[in-house]
Amino acid sequence: DLKNLEAKIYVAGHKGMVGSAIERALTNQGYTNIIKRTSKQLDLTDKLEVDHFFATEKPDYVFLAAAKVGGILANNTYPADFLFQNINIQNNVIHASLVNKVKKLLFLGSSCIYPKHAPQPIKEEYLLTGALEATNDAYAIAKICGIKMCQAYAKQYSVNFINAMPTNLYGKNDNYHLEHSHVLPALIRKIHEAKDTGAAEVTVWGTGTPKREFLYADDLAEACIHLMKVYNSSDIVNIGTGEDLTINELATSISKALEYEGNLVFDVSKPDGTPRKLLDVSKIKNTGWEPKVGLDEGVLLAYQDYLQQINYSKM
Ligand code: GDP
Repeated sequence: DLKNLEAKIYVAGHKGMVGSAIERALTNQGYTNIIKRTSKQLDLTDKLEVDHFFATEKPDYVFLAAAKVGGILANNTYPADFLFQNINIQNNVIHASLVNKVKKLLFLGSSCIYPKHAPQPIKEEYLLTGALEATNDAYAIAKICGIKMCQAYAKQYSVNFINAMPTNLYGKNDNYHLEHSHVLPALIRKIHEAKDTGAAEVTVWGTGTPKREFLYADDLAEACIHLMKVYNSSDIVNIGTGEDLTINELATSISKALEYEGNLVFDVSKPDGTPRKLLDVSKIKNTGWEPKVGLDEGVLLAYQDYLQQINYSKM
């Protein structure tokens, strides 16, 4: 089983923020047989390529961290891409894992699968109890489809395919695109650039009142490996910190961390999205996992990653 450090483990999406964090954590824990392919080497939306890869490599464990992801604007602008690419990736990898007798697969969902107006904190059982948030319903539907695939395959074929639902994530190898990224990396970039150019203000999208919970990607990676070792049910499991804050508070705290003294202005022509998205994490905590990196520390680590990505030096 996964206690064997030579187990053959495929990390799908190892170039991304989540996949790279899982690969790092596995390597740190001493795993030696990690298989990975870039999207150029293996197009996961292509069934023939995926079938061939699985038949040749025969991995024992699969972390399915490959997905098309993006922030509120990207999700709202490219719903067809989010549906098509994610459903294809999932279908191909999950089905090939069945055919090639993968011992255990972990599918990564998202906290946006829950109803827009779910009671807070959000328990796993609230899935499909109400309408979704419109700005990311395509992505959410794709992820719900992946969860249901794992559950249906577990039920019909008795395979050990499990489902982890992370809250909003940030960390190393994040995407800092001004339009397409998530809020935390976007604000790191905007505030850094404002400070760098001496700009008097930074524009924050929406009203600043929505509340979000943020988990450092390396903490998520530890949680995924932990679940791979101890959890054997296709019932979904939330992964988060159990704490949230408003976007205004987040922007203020990033300004402090980056020592930026300008003002925040709110562009209310941009969408707020879900008013609040705080996960109930008692289930995973009861299995013996908890996050290690607090938001203040995590923001500084993410900032270092951003500076590295842009090759920034202060001369
Ligand atoms: P969400 O959690 O799916 O809504 O995804 P995001 O991380 O993209 O956005 C979270 C919240 O942050 C939303 O209310 C956004 O309007 C707000 N926000 C404020 N400034 C920004 C920004 O520069 N980029 C993004 N992506 N969101 C921002």
